[in-house]
Amino acid sequence: MSDQELATINVTTLISNRDQSGRVHIEGPGVKLQLIADDARALAGNIAEAATFAEADAFLFAFARQTIGADVNAAAVLLSEFREFREARIGPRPEVPAMAEESGRVNQYVCRGSRGVITTANLVEGTTPFLVECRAKVGCTGMMESQFYRVDQSLAPGFEWFRPSLREAGKLGNAMVEHVKAGGLDLRPATPTAGGRD
Ligand SMILES: [Zn+2]
Repeated sequence: MSDQELATINVTTLISNRDQSGRVHIEGPGVKLQLIADDARALAGNIAEAATFAEADAFLFAFARQTIGADVNAAAVLLSEFREFREARIGPRPEVPAMAEESGRVNQYVCRGSRGVITTANLVEGTTPFLVECRAKVGCTGMMESQFYRVDQSLAPGFEWFRPSLREAGKLGNAMVEHVKAGGLDLRPATPTAGGRD
């Protein structure tokens, strides 16, 4: 399939230019996070917990099949009920804010189809997607790929990443609301007078 499935995620550390705090930098295709140490620990905790749950799910599924003699469908139902029970018992866990790309950074997206290029700037800190629908050429249905900020930072942006209000996001559907709640930004043509009014 795509080479993205074989890609690796790199975890490195750096010192923030802005406040000199230590940051954990996580980068891979479609992923670019800079987390303060506490959030990085919380993320690691969530991943470790998920690994434990994944094993527990597999054990339960095998137990249902082999010991109870459940068929695949019955085992799946049991697993689903077990997960709901577990979630209710544990309750909500702290969300890891995906504090990502810093405000003011300039990026480019290149279309896989038309090879068109757009330049973007981040008005506020937040997360941006690896792929966006082509905005370089009218009528193009291709997807544009992020260049991961490895572009000339003095380029003038034609588009800007901004943080919509939840009400604005709601007009674009539930997926956008979830995206914004998780720190995600939305893209619009650059507004010359805009300046981080977040
Ligand atoms: Zn295109």
